[in-house]
Amino acid sequence: MRIEYDIKLGFKDVMFRPKRSTLSSRSQVKLERTFRMKHTDAEWSGIPVMAANMDTVGTFEMALALYDKKLFTAIQKHYTVEEWKKFMTHAPKGVENHIALSTGTGTKDFENISRILEANPQLRFICIDVANGYSEHFVAFVKQTRKKFHEKVIIAGNVVTGEMVEELLLAGADIVKVGIGPGSVCTTRVKTGVGYPQLSAIIECADAAHGLGGQIISDGGCTTPGDVAKAFGAGADFVMLGGMLAGHDESGGDLIEKNGKKVKLFYGMSSTTAMDKHVGGVADYRASEGKTVEVPYRGKVENTVLDILGGIRSTCTYVGASKLKELTKRTTFIRVSEQENRVYTDNDE
Ligand code: 5GP
Repeated sequence: MRIEYDIKLGFKDVMFRPKRSTLSSRSQVKLERTFRMKHTDAEWSGIPVMAANMDTVGTFEMALALYDKKLFTAIQKHYTVEEWKKFMTHAPKGVENHIALSTGTGTKDFENISRILEANPQLRFICIDVANGYSEHFVAFVKQTRKKFHEKVIIAGNVVTGEMVEELLLAGADIVKVGIGPGSVCTTRVKTGVGYPQLSAIIECADAAHGLGGQIISDGGCTTPGDVAKAFGAGADFVMLGGMLAGHDESGGDLIEKNGKKVKLFYGMSSTTAMDKHVGGVADYRASEGKTVEVPYRGKVENTVLDILGGIRSTCTYVGASKLKELTKRTTFIRVSEQENRVYTDNDE
């Protein structure tokens, strides 16, 4: 047994140190970025905030709303070939640059994405998503996908350490998704004791990825616009959100009325709810590693998006970054033992 004594940090452990700057307004801050992909040499431009490929977040409706603001959506993996075809026929041109097709790593998954991509060759992004990105089988699946779909951009995850980021990039991924255990409806840390504080995971994985010309997505754990800014400040190229985008008109699932309040269901992709829905229950050799919660209904996602983007722009002005691209360079984090003053928190919600 070994213990690593370096302290690893989460979003709650730091704040940005403000810096003198010449920026006078948030409107001067540019959030759009352009990335060149490692394996395809293709370019992507947009605001690098993504909806997670979860049933109630990565919906086609969410994709249209986020595309409108130049954001990105990893579409949940349970849409059929027919549903994809219908969506792509009616979607505005350009959407294909702002959505990813998601997949697991089974033989059926591979056949399924092959069919969807054959029917919709304009799709550019494939998101290969597993809870534990440390298996040889996963690396082999990434290689197989790169071989067959050499012109597509491949996102692969999730991992939390530099050496595995490197391995996935070398296996054929362009972008590696980072995060084990920080998610709002994730119970991995409780059920398994495995995890890595997200801010440190980002710092270490970004360093490894950028050294090889790849990018990373910080996936999970953001609860406020400030957390999203911290993820970018730590070096994330993209930030993926689940809970922060749940509960809207565009989030899947029914609107439920409970004790006079409107709520929507939000659940982890390995929760009992998701497994009952998609695979006929939790197999008896495994435990559910996700929660099911009711989140307050929040109307259109556009308002939430503007709130998040406004927060990031404001962070940039506090540290003197005129572009999101400069935020990491301008970031000095201070370690803290307090965050916001919560004395009136219950009153304003
Ligand atoms: P959030 O933004 O809600 O904090 O985190 C979203 C992320 O949580 C997702 O993108 C995904 O990586 C992760 N996640 C989603 N469902 C589950 C689950 O059932 N179990 C675990 N361990 N993680 C989940």
